Amino acid sequence: MKTTDTRVRRAITAVGGGRPVVITTGPENDNEGYLAFAAETATPRLLAFTIRHSSGYVRVALPAAECERLNLPPICHRGENRFDAAAHRVTVDWRGTGTGISATDRAATIAALAAKSSDPSDFRRPGHVVPVEVATAGVLGHPGPAEAALDLTRLAGRRHAAGLCDIVSRHRPSAMARGGELLEFALEHALPVVSVGELISYRRRVEPQVERMAETVLPNRGEGFRAIGFRDVHGGGEHLALIVGDVGPGVPVPLHVHVECVTSDVFGSTACRCGTDLRAALSDMRANDGGVVIYLRPPGPMRACGLTDTEEIDSGELSQTVAWILRDLGVYTIRLADDAPGFGLVIFGAIRERGLRVAG
Ligand SMILES: [Zn+2]
Repeated sequence: MKTTDTRVRRAITAVGGGRPVVITTGPENDNEGYLAFAAETATPRLLAFTIRHSSGYVRVALPAAECERLNLPPICHRGENRFDAAAHRVTVDWRGTGTGISATDRAATIAALAAKSSDPSDFRRPGHVVPVEVATAGVLGHPGPAEAALDLTRLAGRRHAAGLCDIVSRHRPSAMARGGELLEFALEHALPVVSVGELISYRRRVEPQVERMAETVLPNRGEGFRAIGFRDVHGGGEHLALIVGDVGPGVPVPLHVHVECVTSDVFGSTACRCGTDLRAALSDMRANDGGVVIYLRPPGPMRACGLTDTEEIDSGELSQTVAWILRDLGVYTIRLADDAPGFGLVIFGAIRERGLRVAG
């Protein structure tokens, strides 16, 4: 098992067992750290620990449906970005609490926010706990710490509600803990550490990332291509698998992976090699009476070399898509016929991780 998978699984086990974990945002997002736990397991002791080592601004990540069910409206108007401050919902205290600010009171409020039996009248507004709405798809919808915390509760089989709070630096109490200090803190308190990025790649590996849509036979110069449409489970990408001959476990299947390029694929522009490579792959398949072309249409703006500034493609994400499509097709051994520079190697890695074999 990969080291990062082990880290993710340790975090899931801890959250399932009512213990806190440290979620880090990674170097690309300031290396910040959060204490996170399953809201239903909140206790006065856990909250006292959380408040002592953090900014004390304890939030509870909840799915949108739960925010609606408990009548927790947005704390301010929605901005352009759905997951900005507007994701914060009106603050609450559980009605059975005193002032609502003590660790004991906040533990009761947090546990009540997670309880299936709670209803809107169980809470006073405003209060001392901040509910935050998170993306339904979790870190695969928005790569943030609140989504990561909620994903961990879901993966642990707990109620979908997670407490989280920013960790403060011990050496510089006026600043937040970052990078190495977070690891020291986690080690000292024997807490698992997981980054948002690790959780994203774990979920992409273990949860199917595509679903099969339509299937048909496309007539083409006497013979037909079997064509199967796929759609990303999260995000708007739609993809196509074109198949010639029999595919299945055992026989190595030649594979060509193509990323859409409208100018070249459709209009035959020679400004790039995309269309030429695709047509060559299709005629090789016909000549050899076997093979698979995976035609990827990543979400976002149209890709067209020479016409639009083609955004850098996320080859790590696309290679996971390829691996899940192959798995759906029942292809377990491939020969890589891909000649997209750099992309072939990434796909190679993702395919091996998924237990597929690469021959030749
Ligand atoms: Zn192109």
